[in-house]
Amino acid sequence: MGTIEVVLGDITRQRVDIIVTAANESLLGGGGVDGAIHRAAGPRLAEAGARLAPVEPGKAVATPAFDLAPVKHVIHTVGPVWEDGEQGEDLVLTSCYLNSLLLAEELEAESIAFPAIATGVHGFPAERAARIATMAVRSLPIIDEIRLVAFDEETSGLLREALAEPVREWCPTCGAAAIPLVNGCRLLPEARQALAAGAIGLGGFLLDDDTFPQWGCAQEHYWTNGERDECRNQVALNDAIAVTLGEDRGWSVP
Ligand code: ADP
Repeated sequence: MGTIEVVLGDITRQRVDIIVTAANESLLGGGGVDGAIHRAAGPRLAEAGARLAPVEPGKAVATPAFDLAPVKHVIHTVGPVWEDGEQGEDLVLTSCYLNSLLLAEELEAESIAFPAIATGVHGFPAERAARIATMAVRSLPIIDEIRLVAFDEETSGLLREALAEPVREWCPTCGAAAIPLVNGCRLLPEARQALAAGAIGLGGFLLDDDTFPQWGCAQEHYWTNGERDECRNQVALNDAIAVTLGEDRGWSVP
């Protein structure tokens, strides 16, 4: 089983296969965590980055880690600049984590360290960012060892709290506890058992507004919170399936 761990410290000191940096679109290095990573990796990092730039917010690209060896790669992801929370910032931040994990899997990494992307100069509120980071990595536990590296006590506390938070959803119509719905087209064999046990429901049908429902309750109310809730829905599904099968949920907190 994989682990998701919150570590307080300097990300350049982490002995992992991949270090993720909170880059800017040019990949030439900047201040904050990106500056520290560029200093530790040496000037070849900016040269390699320049060949892959520009990188859009939410996307991720990889270069060698150069002087950061034994770290193998640096993944450069560009976080959202916080405006007011209504400009898709949450989704872009989620994409930073998910795209980095998918790229790390392609690179066959067994361990990865993330900084608290976008919470410095980019101005993303720390608590909201901690919830997004932890939900994103819990929804896609495809790397054995995931470290969320906090540079200060406050961020570390927020990440720990968010990691411990169970997914609970309540019906907006009747207030009852909800179960997560799985899209029928994507139904995996292990999901069938959880479906039969009533721990999850089938969501592969359209609501009145032409969206698929993510949650349902015993009173047969169905609803969706939209794209921004996809990670919570996935974590709730993973947990419900694991509990039904009597298996671990794919990750643990050491
Ligand atoms: P962004 O531009 O994405 O906001 P910053 O580098 O300004 O990126 O900040 C992102 C986070 O990284 C902040 O929480 C900051 O405290 C943290 N940070 C800065 N230096 C380091 C480091 N050496 N190791 C880990 N985290 C760091």
